[in-house]
Amino acid sequence: MNKKLHPETLAATGLGWIDPETDAMAAPLRPSTSFLRDPTDLDRTGRMFTRDDNPTFAQPEALINALEGGAGCLLFASGMAAITSVFQRLAPGDHVILPKLVYSGLRDWMNTHGLRWGLEVTYVDACTAAGVGAAIQQGKTKVIWLETPSNPTWAITDIAEVSAVAHAAGALVAIDNTVATPILTRPFEHGADIILHSCSKYMNGHGDLIGGAVVVAEGHEDVLVDIQNIRNEYGGVLGSFEAWLLLRGMRTLAVRVKTASTSALRIAQFLDGCDLVDQVLYAGLETHPNHNVAARQMQGGFGGMLSFRVKGGEDAAKLIASEVQVFRQAISFGSTESVIEHRAGMEKPDSPTPRDMLRVSVGLENTDDLIADLRQAIDAVQREISTGHRNA
Ligand SMILES: *Cc1c(COP(=O)(O)O)cnc(C)c1O
Repeated sequence: MNKKLHPETLAATGLGWIDPETDAMAAPLRPSTSFLRDPTDLDRTGRMFTRDDNPTFAQPEALINALEGGAGCLLFASGMAAITSVFQRLAPGDHVILPKLVYSGLRDWMNTHGLRWGLEVTYVDACTAAGVGAAIQQGKTKVIWLETPSNPTWAITDIAEVSAVAHAAGALVAIDNTVATPILTRPFEHGADIILHSCSKYMNGHGDLIGGAVVVAEGHEDVLVDIQNIRNEYGGVLGSFEAWLLLRGMRTLAVRVKTASTSALRIAQFLDGCDLVDQVLYAGLETHPNHNVAARQMQGGFGGMLSFRVKGGEDAAKLIASEVQVFRQAISFGSTESVIEHRAGMEKPDSPTPRDMLRVSVGLENTDDLIADLRQAIDAVQREISTGHRNA
């Protein structure tokens, strides 16, 4: 299918693929682990064993690749399996740069297995050209890792600005695009080299599978070959049923992400007006320090994720999370239902995540229901604070 079509069209049609055997419009599920070799052992299809590749991967990989505008995509068993492959291709002594506030699973991996592997890591406070530039070690820095908006405070990075500094030093820029999705941000258009996804979140969008993806930009086909070998050798391969389910979920990606974004902006504006709320972290608000960068870099919305800091501190924040009735108090995000989470409580004790902060994933419910739910929870906590005790 014509790759110049808009992302909404690419996703909704699943790239317009029709099964050549049956004319089926929905892709078949092909669970076979093994593929027939011909008598001369010159395998006709290039397929051998599903740990290397499976035909059910082809269409979701092609769709993610088309949405991101990449040179190739590989599915993995989880976001973490995808993310770590980028570092597993490095050698001991190589240096990498990560944001201080980054997806905590990556930080935990880096601080244990990454260091044991021999990687050297610098965490930077500000992912700006100056902040990253100061951390670069000429000839040694191989990967600069970014998330924008970054989990869990939704800080925004100017991808083009950091990519220019990285490329001048010969480093690759890898972006975890799980939160923005290619519906809102296409990092390759801004100079990034590698894109990562946890498909467990918006890509699948229904909270019922764990998966991940790596996409590389044109010119980095060698990186893709390396990463495909890592996938095969470490075996972090997605199940064929999950690959099939992922494609089904991605058909509604655009409408889900845009609906969540519209709702999230209204919720952020509501929270911004609450006395008990100290600060709302959401790039869609004009008061956000990087609103202008986000508005330039993101199209069609600012995403469905936001966080807010509560005046009563950690206790009041946790109390709000326990008072909601429509929101669910749970981990993860990007599913149809809205969730709220005291993030610092879920992370390791050394986490830099603010303890007075709640993280919100806005789902697809009616926005008025979500706002009313937050209002009643905040009002209840406000009453408890002003009367000094809990109502029975
Ligand atoms: C969840 C998440 C991951 C990890 O993905 P899994 O599929 O849970 O392994 C990585 N990055 C971000 C931003 C995430 O939210």
